Amino acid sequence: KTIDIKEVINSCVDTIHQTHPLANIKVIGNTKTLLIDLDENRIEQVLQNYLTNALKYSPENQTVTVLREDLENEVVVKVKDKGIGIPEEKQKNVFSKFYRVEETSLKFQGLGIGLYICADIIKKHQGSFGVKSEPKKGSEFYFSLPKQL
Ligand code: ATP
Ligand code: MG
Repeated sequence: KTIDIKEVINSCVDTIHQTHPLANIKVIGNTKTLLIDLDENRIEQVLQNYLTNALKYSPENQTVTVLREDLENEVVVKVKDKGIGIPEEKQKNVFSKFYRVEETSLKFQGLGIGLYICADIIKKHQGSFGVKSEPKKGSEFYFSLPKQL
């Protein structure tokens, strides 16, 4: 189905506000209509998982930023938080099934499945994904999707 990526972002932020009424989410970058052929529910699931993690692993009221960047052949969506961060050597593991960062995440409930599902969905859309992070500073999770014709 052909979906507007702008609507995907707006609808995810709305959904998050229903479960996290006080969440401070800022949407920046490109806000133009961009039609892409994708599975809307699945892509919303990816962005919602990124956003829920950003809120869960950050101090309350800390801003979470969603940045959309349109490149020549792809659109990149980044979710940035100012939370607990992830040690460098663990970053490569966070998209694996059941993986959780033991020293930081044990006090939060979770199965370690959210990002594994995200990775699976993005791969099925021929996109890419990843994370940049610094302990105690924050994390930036991104995914990209090819702009089809
Ligand atoms: P759930 O399956 O309920 O989502 P989870 O949040 O533990 O549980 P994932 O979303 O797959 O699982 O994330 C895997 C691990 O990556 C987390 O346990 C946490 O250690 C780390 N992580 C994910 N997002 C962040 C973030 N924004 N900041 C810091 N650590 C994160
Ligand atoms: Mg999670």
